[in-house]
Amino acid sequence: MAINVTVWNEYQHEKTDKKVQQVYPEGIHEAIREFLDEDGELNIQTATLDEPEHGLTQEVLESTDVLIWWGHMAHDAVEDDIVERIHDQVLRGMGLILLHSSHYSKIFKRLMGTTCSLRWREVGERERLWVVDPNHPITHGIPEYIDLPHEEMYGERFDIPEPEKILFLGWFEGGEVFRSGITYTRGNGKVFYFQPGHETYPQYKNPLIQKVITNAVHWAAPERKYPKYEAFHADNDVEWDDFDYLGDTPFPKFG
Ligand code: ZN
Repeated sequence: MAINVTVWNEYQHEKTDKKVQQVYPEGIHEAIREFLDEDGELNIQTATLDEPEHGLTQEVLESTDVLIWWGHMAHDAVEDDIVERIHDQVLRGMGLILLHSSHYSKIFKRLMGTTCSLRWREVGERERLWVVDPNHPITHGIPEYIDLPHEEMYGERFDIPEPEKILFLGWFEGGEVFRSGITYTRGNGKVFYFQPGHETYPQYKNPLIQKVITNAVHWAAPERKYPKYEAFHADNDVEWDDFDYLGDTPFPKFG
């Protein structure tokens, strides 16, 4: 079954920073679209901050199975009502994949309920990304670890609620460690945070990083979205007469 993916990027660094332009001349969202496009099951569209409604209209989100998010310098520029719109979609079942500095995005903080702060340093040190759960769909086909020659250091303590699963643990040359790949469920939606992807290093061109993100899209895609998230009143007329414990219908009929 086809999965509709929307790749959202704030798309600011690429417009102003020469170093970032060299790595991602078309923008991070296009680099992500490019490798996802190789998967025939995925229908991909992109959206960016400067578009009307940040490219995330109700219609776009309604048809999105999995939203990928990359943000860094402009978290505060994301409109609160659009954050609520995304939040509602996640509760109804839309998958959400948050990359790198998206740990500080409004939507991640809203879903986590904590500060989501961490320790960081940018000197381009080496990272070794260890797989700590080799039997998860997201780590399928990934070796014991992924070596990244240069990455911004993100270290503990990462102020997040206890993850459901820790899939990757990042070790940095400077000595820090980090819960680099973690999963949550919020409402009916699956959420995956994945740390690699600083804008000046070509992590999204690394085939193993691409594989993790592609796996995550398949994992996060919902069977179906819950139509509307609100309480509803059940039928008062509970007919226990229909209950026939030994009959063909071993369950009572409600309404
Ligand atoms: Zn960064």
